[in-house]
Amino acid sequence: MIIGSDPILLTPGPLTTAPATRAAMLRDWGSWDEAFNRITQSVCADLLRIAQGVDEFVCVPMQGSGTFAVEAALGSLIADGSRVLVPNNGAYCARIIRILQTLGIAHTELPLREDQPATAQAVAAALDSDASITHVALVHLETSTGILNALEDIAETCRSRGKRLIVDAMSAFGALPIRLDGSGIDALISASGKCLEGPPGMGFVLARRTLLEDCAGRARSVALDLHDQYAYMRQTSQWRFTPPTHVVAALRAALDQFLAEGGQRARGARYRNNCRALIEGMCALGFKPFLAAEVQAPVIVTFHAPVSPHYDFGRFYRAVREAGYVLYPGKLTHVETFRVGCIGAIDANEMHNAAAAIGRAMQALGVALRP
Ligand SMILES: *Cc1c(COP(=O)(O)O)cnc(C)c1O
Repeated sequence: MIIGSDPILLTPGPLTTAPATRAAMLRDWGSWDEAFNRITQSVCADLLRIAQGVDEFVCVPMQGSGTFAVEAALGSLIADGSRVLVPNNGAYCARIIRILQTLGIAHTELPLREDQPATAQAVAAALDSDASITHVALVHLETSTGILNALEDIAETCRSRGKRLIVDAMSAFGALPIRLDGSGIDALISASGKCLEGPPGMGFVLARRTLLEDCAGRARSVALDLHDQYAYMRQTSQWRFTPPTHVVAALRAALDQFLAEGGQRARGARYRNNCRALIEGMCALGFKPFLAAEVQAPVIVTFHAPVSPHYDFGRFYRAVREAGYVLYPGKLTHVETFRVGCIGAIDANEMHNAAAAIGRAMQALGVALRP
């Protein structure tokens, strides 16, 4: 795929976008413009279709990075007196806990190791041991390691117990199958700049209509009031405050490409290929993935850093950057790691080339991987 001379971002948001997506940002739009508002509407309609939530869900876009949409959902959908269970196996789960703390919403952490997925059994046990829990807030794909949590089973567990489920599916949406209608999910959050391959700057919440319509006046924030954004948009077909016009237009272009590629199945298949090529190339160099293959999602891979006095992430990063690839530092507290994303407008070729560039960088640094 054509990237020109820009480095390839192996960072899952912002990521490498396609030329057509970037080209869509070369035009200015007025926020009152009907043509722009039709773009917003068509983006929302497509997002609901991709998530198979056309019947029971509504899409509310939100300005800002993904966290703004997560905070809007948590702060707008959860009534006072609720208690939220948060399975925690990484930094994005911890961020949800921090948001709940700041908003003054009671919560219970379900602590997990960073290489241990959240399962329906663990969630069921936690729910059954505390009747005061009303909600579960789950990260679908914990991007700090790349681990996949058991969304479908956990949704079933929540539904059978009458608990509300709010899902941060930021880095899974578009790549992994999700079916909202008929599920135990009440709200699902993602953003423009991850597996949909748009630029960063717009989040969205797919919320159960009956739930959202009950939430007027509940938000703990003005700017992040999901119900108000929804109500205003329904009434006026405009965004409540200044929309990220270029981002919305580019997301429209990215969605056109997503659909032309073959939708979620094709996107997921390309990423699985990328992930396989990456892991093969890296293992051939002597690197080891942090996660077991069964829980590794095809979006971002965490690798153990080499154990060598010559290894330093900053120098390693710069050497690989020089070769045209941007890596991600690790986000783990206990083990030294780094991360490589396999999403964006890239294919297995780029993953092979990236692994080769990483191999050359290790040689240049004098880091031996094989004993
Ligand atoms: C990217 C991401 C977010 C949002 O992070 P921002 O920096 O606000 O874009 C939230 N949760 C997960 C799981 C993510 O991958």
